[in-house]
Amino acid sequence: MLSEVEVPQPWDLTEFVRRLTGPLGKHVDLRPLSSELTPDQRVEAGITGLIVNLPRSLQIFYDDTTTPVHQFAVVMHELGHYCLGHTDTGKVQCRVDLQTTEESDAEDFGREMVLAVRGGGTLHRPPHSDDPEGVQSLGEALADID
Ligand SMILES: [Zn+2]
Repeated sequence: MLSEVEVPQPWDLTEFVRRLTGPLGKHVDLRPLSSELTPDQRVEAGITGLIVNLPRSLQIFYDDTTTPVHQFAVVMHELGHYCLGHTDTGKVQCRVDLQTTEESDAEDFGREMVLAVRGGGTLHRPPHSDDPEGVQSLGEALADID
């Protein structure tokens, strides 16, 4: 899926998701949690991301107050639930704890997407020695692009 997707330059999460999910045949709405919940409500709910699978669209809510790479990872985690078949229509999935198999599978999906984009020929920053998985490095790269 990702190999057919050109990573937007400059980095644009909404545009990337639009390109990535075009073949799914479902419109994807990215909905920043900061416009849905107050900071107190967000902390209380303990939610960083959430996906709702509607008949005609996917609604992905994400914490937009964190770093660009974390926002990307959260959105990819939620999208992972859909791609891995976890989301029945009308079912709500929260990124709260990662104890269940579905949660850890979705987390792996998100992580792999982050790494795939980093290795996709657009973001060339190599993994850092103190960050062997390179996720933080992507964050720095994305921050640099901003
Ligand atoms: Zn999840």
